[in-house]
Amino acid sequence: MFEERISRARSRMEELDVDTLLLSVGADLPYFTGYTAMPLERLTMLVLPRSGDATLVVPALEAPRIEERPEAFTIQPWGETEDPVAIVARLARRPARAAIGDRTWATFVLGLQEALPETSFLAASRVTGPLRAQKDAAEIDALRAAARVVDSVALAMRDRPFAGRTEADISRELVERMLEGGHERANFAIVASGPNAASPHHEPGDRIVEVGDSIVCDFGGTMAGYCSDITRTFAVGEPSADMIDLYGVLFEAQEQAVRAARVGVTCEQVDAAARSVIAAAGYGDYFIHRTGHGIGLEEHEDPYLVSGNATLLAAGHAFSVEPGIYLPGRCGARIEDIVVATESGPERLNEAPRELAIVG
Ligand code: ZN
Ligand code: ZN
Ligand code: ZN
Repeated sequence: MFEERISRARSRMEELDVDTLLLSVGADLPYFTGYTAMPLERLTMLVLPRSGDATLVVPALEAPRIEERPEAFTIQPWGETEDPVAIVARLARRPARAAIGDRTWATFVLGLQEALPETSFLAASRVTGPLRAQKDAAEIDALRAAARVVDSVALAMRDRPFAGRTEADISRELVERMLEGGHERANFAIVASGPNAASPHHEPGDRIVEVGDSIVCDFGGTMAGYCSDITRTFAVGEPSADMIDLYGVLFEAQEQAVRAARVGVTCEQVDAAARSVIAAAGYGDYFIHRTGHGIGLEEHEDPYLVSGNATLLAAGHAFSVEPGIYLPGRCGARIEDIVVATESGPERLNEAPRELAIVG
């Protein structure tokens, strides 16, 4: 698998005229090697030339954690008194053009620029983004398994009390349920109630949920390396007529965007599908973010469903579809599912009910 991914990276390097790919911390490294580097001040870097052997340069003390895969790469440990930037520069053999991992610490990028003055650098995501965006069957299974967990959490929350509890308390419950469900890590659990729901990334705090509130719960984590991400909106007691209207528009926008997410459609068309429904209902100024983001080893990765992105959806693209409507100082709502583009049409990975949940 890693060998095959590396060979796809090499074809892409050929297209982009990249001589060497340099990958450090971040999700690109495990995608190609199975190894996730700790974000240390000690340099870890995969040196992957367009032709020739790939070498993983690692701090000697980390080497025992890495499984060498000679068909894909060999390991070169460096000791505490050695200069890892010099080792990487030597292995890279003066490339004219090098692609360097987007999450690489600036200190190493600057060091490499100094050690390789003739080399021009570009972001590795130019090479790796399109490869990672298109998931294979095993990756989609992993995303589906992670989606099942947050689906069951979202479902369980429909029967839970909200009123009288703080946002932070509800957020903790979401985290615990994700971990109990098999996630090895909870990455975030946004609980935004009442007027706080107008802030898409609200930090759950001391506000006590009351009758009449609507609450946006957006949560996700990591299971077997792959991420989940779901948003459901809850109403405490009977929702107001305004909320019912707003939510009906949002529901239709999300539905239309999911249906639009077919192979061969551009990312911006999917965004437009949601946005046009919301704008037609008069809420256009209150949908203040893109419609979605790719998901995989990272919560946010290519492709982004945003105006200006003419990337064509292809089979295996996995992404969120998450329109929201936010009325400042008043309320907000969002619905989010993970969707995979397939030859037979869009497939939602999340199945938890998305109708506005009335809770106590
Ligand atoms: Zn978000
Ligand atoms: Zn989310
Ligand atoms: Zn999301």
